[in-house]
Parts: sequence; structure tokens; C-alpha cells
Amino acid sequence: MKTFCGRANPTTGSMEWLEEGEDYDYHQEIARSRYADMLHDKDRNVKYYQGIRAAVSRVKERGEKAIVLDIGTGTGLLSMMAASAGADFCYAIEVFKPMANAAVKIVEKNGFSDKIKVINKHSTEVTVGPDGDMQCRANILVTELFDTELIGEGALPTYEHAHKYLVQEGCEAVPHRATVYVQLVESKRMWSWKKLFPVHVEAEDGEKILVPPSEMENCPGVPSVCDIQLNQMPSSDFTTLSDVVTMFSVDFSKPVQSASTYYRVQLEPVKSGKAQIVLSWWDIDMDPSGMINCTMAPYWVKPTSALQWRDHWMQCVYFLPNEEPVLQGEKLYLTACRDEYSVWYHLQKAREGEDKADEEEHKADVHVESPVCRCRAHLLWNRPRFGELNDQNRTRQYIKSLRKVLKTDSVCLCISDGSLLPVLAHYLGAKQPSRIDSYHPHELPQAFFKANHLEDKIKIIEARPELLKPSHLEDKKISVLVGEPFFTTSLLPWHNLYFWYARTAVSAHLASNVTVLPQSASLHMMIVEFQDLWRIRSPCGICEGFDVQTMDDMIKDSLNFRESKEAEPHPLWEYPCKSLSDPREVLTFDFTKAVPQHCLSTEGSVNLLRKGRSHGAVLWMEYHLAADISVSTGLMQMSNEKGNCEWNPHCKQAVYFFSSVIESEILSDPTAVTYAINFDTKTGEIAMDFKL
Ligand code: SAH
Repeated sequence: MKTFCGRANPTTGSMEWLEEGEDYDYHQEIARSRYADMLHDKDRNVKYYQGIRAAVSRVKERGEKAIVLDIGTGTGLLSMMAASAGADFCYAIEVFKPMANAAVKIVEKNGFSDKIKVINKHSTEVTVGPDGDMQCRANILVTELFDTELIGEGALPTYEHAHKYLVQEGCEAVPHRATVYVQLVESKRMWSWKKLFPVHVEAEDGEKILVPPSEMENCPGVPSVCDIQLNQMPSSDFTTLSDVVTMFSVDFSKPVQSASTYYRVQLEPVKSGKAQIVLSWWDIDMDPSGMINCTMAPYWVKPTSALQWRDHWMQCVYFLPNEEPVLQGEKLYLTACRDEYSVWYHLQKAREGEDKADEEEHKADVHVESPVCRCRAHLLWNRPRFGELNDQNRTRQYIKSLRKVLKTDSVCLCISDGSLLPVLAHYLGAKQPSRIDSYHPHELPQAFFKANHLEDKIKIIEARPELLKPSHLEDKKISVLVGEPFFTTSLLPWHNLYFWYARTAVSAHLASNVTVLPQSASLHMMIVEFQDLWRIRSPCGICEGFDVQTMDDMIKDSLNFRESKEAEPHPLWEYPCKSLSDPREVLTFDFTKAVPQHCLSTEGSVNLLRKGRSHGAVLWMEYHLAADISVSTGLMQMSNEKGNCEWNPHCKQAVYFFSSVIESEILSDPTAVTYAINFDTKTGEIAMDFKL
């Protein structure tokens, strides 16, 4: 059987469907899965084990047999914990076939085959009865079906079904309960991920201010969760306006309802400010008493010493539909609405003289529909892209460079997705800049232009670069070709080199003395030691006394499925690392010329200058806009002797994990890492190899 996988082609900027063997999909799924990260999550594992032991003892104390239902068993870990704790029998349900197969092997290797039955089904397909998958209903329900938003992986419908059909009334549940916490904050940084701020441009004829269209001002945005490593957000980047408040909790030992509902809390700001963001996280109590608690609380709520790093559970950022000025001590209602899979928030001021009794009245006001983007900007720009467009420093670099190259008679074409460059070019004097986007909801640029009275000032060309005709440009040649470059289909930093391919496609339309901005790009590389990110690709071996090496081997196989390993995108501002080598420019791409036929390759070696563990190489692009003006999508600063790095907060960098880690110790005789990097101009992909 063949499967088709969608992948953006960096040479054409469009999605292509590639035929892959049936194994491909699951290898991708395993290679990029969070199983390794979960197995490294010591805090989680220890607490599950404690909770499971306690639940088994409670059932035994009642003189009952302990029959466990483990939904989503993965490696079989929680079932093995239950069996070790004395459970009489475990039904371990796993829907993902390769995982269910691995669970069978792991259970056998650890000697639990007679106590644990692995069932490769979705829990809602599981049957109970003498001929069923389960002989009888279970009296202990164990699961780990949570994502950062708690319910995003379908925990609620799964629990609802399990209580109806698979477990006994009054069963024990591990975890017993989950509680969702919220805190109201003001944060220009996080708010810049949702709203476009006015852009100020110093033009010849005075200051121009670019404003977003009104549809955008009131747009609720998109419902997808914004999950981040909140512990990497410095306290200087936000102001807390309320205490931490309990929003809602779910008791997993009782029947659970998954139908849409809402929860409301009253809150009084501890500080006046602009309410923009609801930060949220959850904790789980493994037992009814709440003595075994596993929490995702961020550093300012929980002492840093007790923080467990994990990537499978982070924290959520929710954007209020509108910014709301609030006063210290005033009475507010915060409402969390949820459907089966997601949560969203809104804030209301209590009316004069209102108390709890009036709350009923408010019910009519609750919007149960999830947020839907009306302005289309939130479909075109994801949150980091909003942040990037709102980055005034970055805009300033582009303005400075455009000012250097634009003349009043410039024929300017911009190739980039959802870019503001044509508007900047217009303000800076280009008569009628044109633009080509590879992605096409043209309503957005149009609404945008309308709000700024630019409808007839900027021309949108609805053609792919290779189909550009002289008539699109009124038979003129392009004198200034600009791009950020940014394309929505790019996954890895070098995929934005599509700009180079597009530039090549429009070659016939370029004036002989054309200026291309950026004039070139360069690929940079650095060897790093990650503080924590290494865990997601590192074998676990023994987890809480259970041998899970089968899982490690499976992940390794999947990572090596392609002959050459691939780099993966990660936003490194969320994942601290220190540099072990100097950053090195490894390849350059000259946009003043067409893409060459031959590959671009380089080889060399870098010395490890600091003591540490080499986990991998980080790669990023820098764009050279004009003489002396460059923007980096990767390293912004290397702050101190220790090699701590500051990364561009709006971009993902490429991380290539080494298959084995080396410790560098002796600095007098530095270890060298040799590399070979190849940019295949036919495919637009970069292959690399490192030797330690
Ligand atoms: N219990 C393991 C793995 C947790 S990951 C551990 O704690 O280490 C969650 C697993 O649940 C995934 O493997 C996923 O495929 C599976 N899963 C999620 N919902 C399920 C359902 N309703 N029925 C069966 N498997 C499910």
C-alpha cells in the first residue's frame, strides 16, 4: 500500500503530494513523537506510580480484585506499574498499531504477559463480556490522555465512554482529578501574536501610519491552542493583573460529560492595566486526597527548584477577543467556554451593584461558539508571524534598506507571503509596487489596502512567478525586486529560499541593473549543548524499573528510516542551549544571480571551544538586505562567556541531533567536528552529515 504525504516543495513554493511507502507515515509519527519525552518525565512517572499503588491498595483493602483499564497504554508503562503494584489483571488499550505492537514486546520482555492484555483498538471499540475484549468491567481506570490544553487529545469523550461502558460505578481513577488554573495578564509581547500594531514609517513627506482594518481589530482569532514553554518568558515581558484562579476541575472517577459547557469565576484585578491574555495550566491529583500532585505551574507560581522540564505538557496562552482596561479591585467575570476538544475565554465587567444572584442573567451573554477568524489575517499569519510583523526593530531594518534602493521611478515587485513590504515601498516613494503571494486569500491584502486608502496604489498580481507576463507589469521591467523572504509553506529555514527560485522564474522581467533585496542569504551553523531539548531524542533504557529499550530501538529505526537523517524545526527561544563552537557561515546564496544548475556544497570542521555535551547542530538563515544591513532568523546574540544564546523569537531554527553525544573536556586540545553540507538546487533541500 502507498500513502500520499503533503509536502511543500521549496523550489515551487507549492504543496505537492508525494507517494510514500506505507511505513513512511508511522515512521514520521514515531520519530517525531513525544513518547521519549514522556518516558524522561521523571516527575510524571514517579507520581503515576505512587497514584497507581495507592489505587490498587484501596481496591484490595475493600477485598476486591484489582482489574485495571489503561487507556492509551503507549509503551505499556502504566499497566506494568499496576501489575507490579499487585493488580490482578490489566487491559491495556492502544489505538496506534506500531505502539500496540511495541507494548506487546515490552510487556513480554518485562515478564508481565500473564497479567497484561494489550488490545489494539480505540477504547470506544472495546467490548466487555465473556466473548469480549474484556471479561468484565474494570474497577481502576488509568489514563494519560492529556495535552497541554488538557482536553485537546480527546480525553473527555474517551472518559465519558469508558464510564458508560468499560468501568464499574465507583471505580478508582488515576489520575483522580485535573484542575485548570488561569491568570489574567497584560503583555505587549504576547498580544503582538494576535494583533497587528500600527506600523510607523518615516516618509519623505512626513510620518505615515499603517493601520490594520477594523475587521481585524475585533476579530476573535483562531481556536487552535497557543502552547508554549512559558518558563522561558521572562517576567519583564508581562504583568500579572490577577492572582492565580482555579477555573474548573474534572473528577475522573465519576461519569464525565464531554458536551460543550462553560465555567465562570469572579475575579478582582490586583493591579490596573490592560487585560489581554489569559495564561493557563493544569495539575493532576493522582489520588483523591490531593497528596500526589503533578503540576504544570510556571516558575513564578512554583519554586524553580521543583520545576520538571517537559515538552509534552507546557502552558497555554489564550487571547481575549479584545483588550479590556481593568481597574484594581473592580469586579470581573472570567468565563471559560469549552467544547469536546478546546477551551476559549472571555472577560466581562460586573454591572453596578451586581452580585452572585444576578449571574443567571449573564448566562444569555455567554458565547459558546468557539472563536472563528473573520478578518482572515489569523488564517494567513500564524502567531509567530504576527510577532515578526510587529517587530519594530526588524521593520526598521527593512525601511532603512528600502530607502537605500528605491527611487521615485522604481518598478518594484515584492515576492513574499502576506508581506507589508509593498506598503512600505509605496510610502517610501515607489510609484506602484506590485506583489505576488504564493498563498492566496487576497481579501486580506485588499481589506488592508482599503483601510489605508491604498487600493489603487498597490497592485496584486494573481499569477505564479513563472506565469508572470509583461502585461502584469504594464510592459515595464522590474528595477527593484524585494522579499522578506517569508513563505507560509516553509518548514525549515532554507525553505524560504523559494524567493531565489521565484526570482529565477521572473528573470526575463528584471531590468539589467535590477536591485534585489535581500541581495543574498547565508546559512549559519553552530554546535550546541541543549539544557533540556536533547531529551526528546534521547533513549530512555530503563523507566522506573521497566525496560523500555524496545521503544528506544523503534524510535531510532524511525529516525534512520531515510538514509540521511533530517534536521527538524524548533523555536529555540523556548529551548535554551549554549554554544560549544563559534557560529560559522557555511553557505551563501546570491540572489543577484539565478539559482545555479549545480548543487552548492561545503565541507569543513569546527572546533569545540567550550566544555559540554554536543547534542547537535543548529542552522539558520541570515538575509543581507543591503550593504551593512542584515537580519538574522537565528542567533541574535551570544551573551556571555558561558555561551548562552539569544534566538530570534519569531522563527524556528533547524536542529540536527547527533546520533551520539560527545563530551568535550580538554580545551587546550579542542575536539573538531567535521561537517559536510549540501544544498541540492533541484530539490531545494539541504542534506548534512557530521562526524565527531
Ligand atoms: N500511557 C503511556 C502513553 C501515553 S500517550 C504513558 O503514560 O507513558 C497516549 C497514548 O494513548 C497514545 O499512544 C495514543 O495513541 C493513545 N490513545 C489516545 N486515545 C486513545 C483511545 N481513546 N483509545 C486507545 N488509545 C488511545
